[in-house]
Amino acid sequence: MKVLVTGGAGYIGSITVERLIEAGDEVVVFDNLYQGHRAAVHPDATFVEGDLANRAQVDEVMAAHRPDAIMHFASHTLVGESMEKPFLYLGDNVTNGLNLLQSALAHGVKRFILSSTANLFDQPERMPIAEDERIVPGSPYGESKFILERMLYWLDRTMGLRYAALRYFNAAGASPTRGEDHHPEYHLIPLVLQVAQGKRDKITIFGDDYPTRDGTCVRDYIHVMDLADAHILAMRALDQGSRTYNLGNGAGFTVKEVIQVAREVTGHPIPAEVGPRRPGDPAVLIASSDKIRRELGWQPRYPDLRDIIASAWQWHQAHPNGYGDRPS
Ligand code: UDP
Repeated sequence: MKVLVTGGAGYIGSITVERLIEAGDEVVVFDNLYQGHRAAVHPDATFVEGDLANRAQVDEVMAAHRPDAIMHFASHTLVGESMEKPFLYLGDNVTNGLNLLQSALAHGVKRFILSSTANLFDQPERMPIAEDERIVPGSPYGESKFILERMLYWLDRTMGLRYAALRYFNAAGASPTRGEDHHPEYHLIPLVLQVAQGKRDKITIFGDDYPTRDGTCVRDYIHVMDLADAHILAMRALDQGSRTYNLGNGAGFTVKEVIQVAREVTGHPIPAEVGPRRPGDPAVLIASSDKIRRELGWQPRYPDLRDIIASAWQWHQAHPNGYGDRPS
């Protein structure tokens, strides 16, 4: 298939592009390089630098390449930032997605995969979290993804769009050639590895008084390559109907467990100190991925936290300055 990938220069997008190309698909990456990296784009993909806010640019890429499907990764993605700058999310994330959808349908593109989020489930009533859990977005970020999910629902009913909404839990790890390089970095695993690399003195644990086995928050870390493969499986299944999946490993690890595994993987003592809770952090988030396993036969190949952290460590060691295009 010919696939248009927005945000294909970003962390999850670039690794999905790599997997698509390995699977024999043709890829066009559309990215404004605001957070992404030109060097992360697979050399066999066509790269178009452009902005989803600019409808004419989106129409141009759509008309020039006539994709069979779209994977939409390009987004502002930070919960904390969305609480401070809500219009980046309730505005840009929503209007950029709308531009992309309007352009896609105007050009007859009817297969669409959305990067959605576990931030739809701020007050889960059951754990692990299944697709039919009550939706309570935890922030303007989560709300922006929920608004896009609802657009997809209605565009399926009214215009025959076939979509998959994939709600990621905690993406982590790296492929042998592509990894996570955010500026600034806010995510636990890359921050912990920065301590092992000597870029930081210590890691701060955001609260140890949660009702969990060691008092620190539990999260479901999923290997980015398993996430990428789920996109490809979902895309191939779209002609049988639209679908929504939660994507995680189904196992949760505490912040302290992540730090301990990172110590073992890196051989570095990784000093940690306990600080206050980070506002808005739920105690436990674990996905049920039963639905995608049952319907598409998806199986995570790297469910082991040690393998996930080891792959990230390998990439960071080989790329100590990430893609090298931003000051560290
Ligand atoms: N966390 C932490 N210290 C840090 C960064 C994150 O204790 O410097 C915790 C955070 O409170 C959460 C978990 O690590 O419980 C994962 O956070 P991350 O930001 O990686 O992902 P999130 O779960 O927010 O999507």
